[in-house]
Amino acid sequence: MTDKKINNGRRSFIKLMAVGAGVTATGIGALTPYRAEAITTNAHIVIVGAGAAGVSMANRLARETKGARITIIDRRELHTYQPGLTLVATGIWKPTKVVDSNAHYIPNKVNWIKETVTEFNPEGNEVVTDTGQRVAYDYLMVATGLELNFEAIEGMHAGLIGKHGIACVYDNPENAMNSWNVISQFTDEGGVGIFTRPPGAIKCAGAPLKIAMLTEHQLRTKGNRERAQLTYTAPATGLFSQPDVNEFLKSHLPERGFNMHWNSRLTAIDAQAKRATFQTAEGMQQVEYDFIHVVPPMRAPDALRNSMLAAQAGSFASGGWLEVNKHSLQHARFSNVFGAGDCVGTPIGKTAASVKAQVPVAVHNLLQVIQGKAADAAYNGYTSCPLVTEKGEAMLVEFDYDLKMVPSFGFINPLQRHWVPWVMKDYMLQGAYNAMLRGRV
Ligand SMILES: Cc1cc2nc3c(=O)[nH]c(=O)nc-3n(C[C@H](O)[C@H](O)[C@H](O)COP(=O)(O)OP(=O)(O)OC[C@H]3O[C@@H](n4cnc5c(N)ncnc54)[C@H](O)[C@@H]3O)c2cc1C
Repeated sequence: MTDKKINNGRRSFIKLMAVGAGVTATGIGALTPYRAEAITTNAHIVIVGAGAAGVSMANRLARETKGARITIIDRRELHTYQPGLTLVATGIWKPTKVVDSNAHYIPNKVNWIKETVTEFNPEGNEVVTDTGQRVAYDYLMVATGLELNFEAIEGMHAGLIGKHGIACVYDNPENAMNSWNVISQFTDEGGVGIFTRPPGAIKCAGAPLKIAMLTEHQLRTKGNRERAQLTYTAPATGLFSQPDVNEFLKSHLPERGFNMHWNSRLTAIDAQAKRATFQTAEGMQQVEYDFIHVVPPMRAPDALRNSMLAAQAGSFASGGWLEVNKHSLQHARFSNVFGAGDCVGTPIGKTAASVKAQVPVAVHNLLQVIQGKAADAAYNGYTSCPLVTEKGEAMLVEFDYDLKMVPSFGFINPLQRHWVPWVMKDYMLQGAYNAMLRGRV
């Protein structure tokens, strides 16, 4: 796709959107209206985590309640637009584009405690922070996101990103930029490149694939494709949870020259020697590389994982995910607790698109419970990923708990690589995300 074609198409597309196709510029679900009238309550509602989900909850609750005391707890003052990290790590965006101040988004009406919760005590209806402050609540919204568990890979830590050929898109804007530096060097020089993916739930499961495909595209653009051997390692025998997309990717990556290594899990890395160890069906295998994209296993943050709020049994227990009803997002055992975002134990989720669909449900159901009514709104598992296949081209994949495709735009085939989802990713989704933070969509 030429830049000229993209630019012409982009102008018409943006015009089309502007006349109100109802694109929350998102491709991320239907518009969600507010309650007609705010509810009156003197409840104290505490939100833990001021990321995508927590800030969006704070805005909705501020608007949809009268008299409530709302507190949000998070030490982090800078907000990262994480979906943009993929574009930073592939040299398309500058890191400054993905960083903002949380103070722009947290409403004045909300009391912001700039501390970290170290203990959840749902039986006593309180949380404890790292300064020892005890914060009592009537209702709790858990929105802590997740934690990158680099330590699960022997020899790996975040300080290695950008050194010794190691990249990782997931950490933060600075390390996304450091990742771009090593990707840029690798695509200049060629060599052996390895892309990894851990077992278990991860946020934006499309991101490791996007990095692999954008790196391959970069090699072609520089005329260096023949100089590189690329391997994609997967912990099982699939690449993506949605079956049609999985089938597409399983033939698309080999077509682009990736060697596929199935049932393969990165267990150790020797950064100095540029050597990675994988657990495979045939036993432990060591591979020397010039470049490696490391994706660490992910889990709920310590405080949540070690608390009574975490799933105590079943498939969500090992990650310590919040034990919620997958539709109402109400805690399975503590009825005054709700959650949204990456920390919740739902079969599908862990995208900003899911946050957009979950937050209105969690907030609505909380307000119903406050009024003594049934938690009657349901999250259907909606998630979405503009699966970037190369610069200028992506697939807009949207699906639900049934793994059924639920396309927002009838005119885009979700299985077709197209410039429209690329334009959305590059130019429009950040605006939609910011509107979500403000609780407006
Ligand atoms: C590389 C990458 C690419 C992505 N691409 C896409 C995409 O294309 N489309 C898409 O929809 N989504 C994408 N995502 C996923 C999306 O960004 C996340 O799903 C979303 O940010 C989750 O929001 P959250 O509020 O649950 O977590 P976060 O936004 O991570 O926020 C969690 C907050 O909780 C705070 N916190 C944690 N523990 C505590 C504690 N104990 N006490 C107080 N505060 C705490 C943290 O400081 C943080 O501010 C991507 C993510 C990454 C990393």
